[in-house]
Amino acid sequence: NAITTTLVWRIILVGALLALGLLFLARRTLHKMRLQQEDYRSIISSISGGVIKFAGLHGPFLFLSPNSLRLLGYGKEEFLRLFGNDFSATIYEHDRDMALRTMEQQLESGLHIDVEYRIRSKSGALIWICHKGSPVSVDHGAPYIQSIIFDITHNREAAQAKRISDERYHFILEQHDIIIFEQNLETGHFSCSAQWLQTFGRVFNILEPDPRHTLIPVHKNDRTRLAVFQNAVRQEAHHVKTSLELRLHDAAGHLRWYRIEASNLTNAQGKPIYIFGIITDIDQQKALELQLRSQANRDSATGMRNKMATEQAAARVLDMLNRHAEVPDDAQGYAMFMIDFDNFKSINDRLGHAAGDRAILEMAQIISKNFRNTDIAGRVGGDEFLVFCTAKMHKEQIRQRARQLVSQLHTQCRASEDSLSLTASLGVACYPQDGKDFATLFNHADMATYEAKRQGRNRCVFFDELGVGDATSPAAVRAATTKNADDAVPLLED
Ligand code: GH3
Ligand code: MG
Repeated sequence: NAITTTLVWRIILVGALLALGLLFLARRTLHKMRLQQEDYRSIISSISGGVIKFAGLHGPFLFLSPNSLRLLGYGKEEFLRLFGNDFSATIYEHDRDMALRTMEQQLESGLHIDVEYRIRSKSGALIWICHKGSPVSVDHGAPYIQSIIFDITHNREAAQAKRISDERYHFILEQHDIIIFEQNLETGHFSCSAQWLQTFGRVFNILEPDPRHTLIPVHKNDRTRLAVFQNAVRQEAHHVKTSLELRLHDAAGHLRWYRIEASNLTNAQGKPIYIFGIITDIDQQKALELQLRSQANRDSATGMRNKMATEQAAARVLDMLNRHAEVPDDAQGYAMFMIDFDNFKSINDRLGHAAGDRAILEMAQIISKNFRNTDIAGRVGGDEFLVFCTAKMHKEQIRQRARQLVSQLHTQCRASEDSLSLTASLGVACYPQDGKDFATLFNHADMATYEAKRQGRNRCVFFDELGVGDATSPAAVRAATTKNADDAVPLLED
């Protein structure tokens, strides 16, 4: 019995020790589990997305992390009530079928769930959700789906904006008359749209200096402007936008007008890293512009320069002469001829306006024939013409030219049976002796014409014959116009 008692005590002792050990182990396991749960909770709350757990695609929610509810803006009760505690009902109806089908397929194929869809948030806005999850099977319990959801609205909007921008770019690229080019300044890579090849027949970098003039088929007069353009677009400034109109040879070798517009993209330091540009064919537009400009400068009846264009062209030449002033030589000068038809009113009165018009055209042709293309000739009044010779002539040569003109302008003006003699009076002033600017020369040539009329018309008078000492003095000018010029000899008899 004593042996039995000892055995029992021993068994009790061992049992107690075992129970103590088990208790200790259980406490440790519990502690570990608590720690793990804490970790799990802190992970769930620290990830930017929300954690959700639901019993199948059409099943109820088993867990909704505070972040997932915050993301959608709902309280837990409200969320479950609103969507009937059914996972599938939370997906925005337009995306629902597609998203559920994708998830089903992924689960059937043993893949993780990876799907994007929209959920209507409490504010009414649709939020793009990226949903990643996987099924979890438990030994004694129903399987469920453990997932993380992220708000990717901003990414989706950015991707959408990028897609629209890409599509817009490609749409522009496909437009027939626009040529697009771009250069990556970091790699030097230059590329252009297909239209470039069709237009120019080969690729050349319009942005790269071409010191030997072998690469860019640009008109030689536009080379300097192209170099200025190339410099400007590479400047270290934010968003430089420059444009240039220039002539380039196309694939067929024809010279055409193009407009190049380019702008750069800079990095954070303001250094240009990319250049975009377009080239437009403006040849027709340019031709029209030139035609309109020339029309604006021309007298429609005679095709000669009008008054404004004559003045501008002559003033430009005079400016140039004044800038490169030569040593004056009294025997030579640049002549300005003023031509006014005599008694022209009577042509109109007696032969009619139409005959007058014909006479003006005929006289304009005579005047043009007597001068070079490089001289500046224009109609400055109804029956008044002006010619400024851009080549220096001896005074005697000028005199001869004036006499010849007076003689040639002596014509017959006809209308049916009637015929009238038509003549012109000329006044001549010379640069630099009679004036150095347009206004003075014009005024002095006009005074000489007035004098030619006063002396009986059909003749030519030189301003220096008026006996004005200082050609530019107003007193002398006034005196000259009232001077009696009995000594002036008619150049031609009527
Ligand atoms: P003067 O010898 O003093 O120059 O006399 P004029 O009759 O020529 O007089 P003025 O030069 O002052 O006047 C020019 C006239 O020319 C006025 C107008 O009847 C006429 N005229 C002006 N332009 C035209 C035109 O385009 N066609 C026609 N048919 N006549 C014009
Ligand atoms: Mg007249």
